[in-house]
Amino acid sequence: MLTGRQLVFVGGDARMLEVIAQVTENDASAILIGFDNMTRTFTDTAHCAVSVEVFSQADAVVLPVAGMDDDGIVDTRFSDVQIHLEDKHFAAMRPGAFVFTGIARPLLCERCIDHSLQLVKLMELDEVAILNSIPTAEGAIALAMEKTDITLHGAKTVVLGFGRCGHTLARTLAAIGAKVSVCARKAEHLARIREMGLEANPMNGLIPAVSNADIVFNTIPSLVLSAGILKVMAKDCVIIDIASKPGGTDFRYAERRGMKAVLAPSLPGVVAPKTAGRIIAETICKILTYETYESNNGK
Ligand code: NAP
Repeated sequence: MLTGRQLVFVGGDARMLEVIAQVTENDASAILIGFDNMTRTFTDTAHCAVSVEVFSQADAVVLPVAGMDDDGIVDTRFSDVQIHLEDKHFAAMRPGAFVFTGIARPLLCERCIDHSLQLVKLMELDEVAILNSIPTAEGAIALAMEKTDITLHGAKTVVLGFGRCGHTLARTLAAIGAKVSVCARKAEHLARIREMGLEANPMNGLIPAVSNADIVFNTIPSLVLSAGILKVMAKDCVIIDIASKPGGTDFRYAERRGMKAVLAPSLPGVVAPKTAGRIIAETICKILTYETYESNNGK
């Protein structure tokens, strides 16, 4: 339980509403910044503007999955007022207090180090990222269904990357009857892909793997689908790129060649905000309850 704890929520999307619901259910009180257009109501919450006073009372500040940008701006779906966090807000927090975010840009890392705050990058924790890969894979598959005129069952699909998202995506595609080929660079990943009964391709086998694909799912946050690779692919191949911005596809060249290529960020927030919010809330509540966390500040 989080009895007596005060959490300050700063911006975010529908996922954050579920996090607010879960922490208040666990008896925390919450200050909400950037939620003035929200229609849901919660017990023991108050709407506030950004101020030093609010931050000084926080046991934890919860930022959206995208965190804060390097100008101090925090995105929110539930307010028309821009949220700008300054150094004085972090300076007002009690040393050792928590700052939760999905990912952290350098400025946020710097602020937390400077003021001895415990920065938790939730999306870098396997326990969050692996569970989060489930709504991500479902969202990518839903998008593929929307963008194609064939069934995924029997379709020639390629998954680029075999990390947390690539693994879940490959398994889910196989379960619905797609022909799945996965490109990865580590020998142990290639072995695991074979063990799963899927076609394993090292990265230098990328061209033969994608050249006759119906759908390519990219999870690698690096330019893998360059113009040279796109050129050997079928023009009607659909590319769903879920890697963090700017993705791993040369979107300019794909458009020029008339290929359907979609960069699809924040899929869990779009297709399953309730589930995605619960995954985040579970870890926040656990960390705040046990107060044990190995800091990944600055990494
Ligand atoms: P991850 O576990 O770190 O997996 C990334 C994969 O990319 C690993 O297999 C890694 O290979 C591979 N990789 C990285 N750089 C590479 C390169 N230069 N060449 C070949 N392979 C490379 O990350 P994840 O959790 O699966 O997430 C994947 C991406 O999706 C990230 O950018 C993440 O931010 C994003 N994401 C997007 C959504 C969304 O809704 N769109 C949701 C969740 C995550 P090694 O294992 O060999 O290093």
